[in-house]
Amino acid sequence: MTHYGKLYIDGAWVEPSSSDTGELVNPATEEVFATVGRGNEHDVDKAVAAARRALESFSTTSVEDRIALIDRIIDAYEARSDEFAEVIAREVGVPVSFKAQVSGPVGHMKVARDLLKTYPFETRVGDTIVRRESIGVCALIAPWNWPIQTMAIKLIYAIAAGCTSVMKPAEASPISSIMLAEVVHEAGVPPGVVNLILGKGSVVGDAMSRHPDVDFVSFTGSTRAGALVGEVAARTIKRVCLELGGKSANVVLPDADLEKAARWNIQRGFSNTGQSCHAPTRMIVHESQLDEILPFLKDEASRFVLGDPLHGATTMGPAVNKAQYESIQHYIQTGLDEGAELAHGGLGRPADINRGFFVQPTIFTGVTPEMTIFKEEIFGPVLAVVTYNDEEEAINLANDSIFGLGGYVFSSDPRKGRAVANRLRAGRISYNGAATNSISPMGGYKQSGIGRSMGIFGLEEYLEVKSEYGFEA
Ligand code: NAD
Repeated sequence: MTHYGKLYIDGAWVEPSSSDTGELVNPATEEVFATVGRGNEHDVDKAVAAARRALESFSTTSVEDRIALIDRIIDAYEARSDEFAEVIAREVGVPVSFKAQVSGPVGHMKVARDLLKTYPFETRVGDTIVRRESIGVCALIAPWNWPIQTMAIKLIYAIAAGCTSVMKPAEASPISSIMLAEVVHEAGVPPGVVNLILGKGSVVGDAMSRHPDVDFVSFTGSTRAGALVGEVAARTIKRVCLELGGKSANVVLPDADLEKAARWNIQRGFSNTGQSCHAPTRMIVHESQLDEILPFLKDEASRFVLGDPLHGATTMGPAVNKAQYESIQHYIQTGLDEGAELAHGGLGRPADINRGFFVQPTIFTGVTPEMTIFKEEIFGPVLAVVTYNDEEEAINLANDSIFGLGGYVFSSDPRKGRAVANRLRAGRISYNGAATNSISPMGGYKQSGIGRSMGIFGLEEYLEVKSEYGFEA
């Protein structure tokens, strides 16, 4: 069995300070397939010190040098695409057919690289030079659900901005981040510019977030952990970007193409086994149209092919681990207990699967705003369908959430759709299932987060702003 025992600090693979190890369980087979070393606060100290030492020279590299470095990272990454796909299939159960998990990071890397070609690091306000420079040493903390993409976006924007970093992946998905560190090493990133510490969030993530020599924390994960990160980071007034949970609503106006809205909702909501932060998990449908829309929802949900993530035909893998499987089951049971009507799926594994953390794609109707499954992020393939009587009620239902990550509107009239979109309190709205892109900002309102990633807004999270007076133009 492979043991992933080393941490990447100051350009070298080193043993962790602690002898603590964890097991990696393949969620499709429930078998342990690897063990992993875990770092602690002493390793964080070493990594932060290396990042601090590397900062002075890396933050003053030319934009051209950083563009060339990102190009080399893209090449080294693309050469290992198939291996990345296999690794995340084994460590978190993402089907190899879900190509965006592996190809997405390349798109983000190219956007960051191209932005550097035109981004004005110095501008003028009156006769003052306003200069944007690297924010410093960054702590990059990522979740397991999009393990490569989330970490790659953080890392590439940090590099683009001339920052140095310490990465910490989720406990469930260390191997893909080890590979990412190997990729940047191969691309010739100078020692200390990128470091990797594996380990627990409550130990390593916490130590990174409170470390006095870390200038910025870019965190993606649950609202629970994000609040803890924000709390300890505040003690040294470090900046944070928090990308947190969601419970996004899809408002289907009466004039919408109902079949399109239904099929899209199921695909967007249930892909990645529903473990995506922007998943539309509350579908808000006119009460007169529920009967018409339901067969499309059920039909689309029944099309998923559940099974071995390494098999090319599989379109839905298992939940990431036992805890996540049990949490999803608990929410389905709670939906039943609180009186929601089960329209599709339900408790337990699908009938033809006898091992692995597989969950049935599940649809509830008769959901009301008081119910737990309306309010809480389930992070599994579970849809709550809620009905409304008029448009005002639909908007109120959509906004009735502590979260504000994504929002969706379906209508045949762009004017009506836009009017609803403008009233949704969420950071990213899509009309009639329009695809999002890597250039525009992504982030949440309310308890879905602080700050934005991607594009110019994402780059600027990694930059400090300085005003310089008295210099000639
Ligand atoms: P999580 O909060 O359990 O863990 C995320 C990361 O934080 C992991 O690396 C973990 O080890 C670390 N961590 C945990 N406790 C910590 C602490 N006290 N201090 C510092 N770090 C700590 O989340 P998860 O289960 O890995 O991911 C799922 C969550 O992520 C969902 O809520 C999902 O909505 C959210 N998410 C949000 C976005 C977004 O862009 N808004 C994207 C992907 C996932």
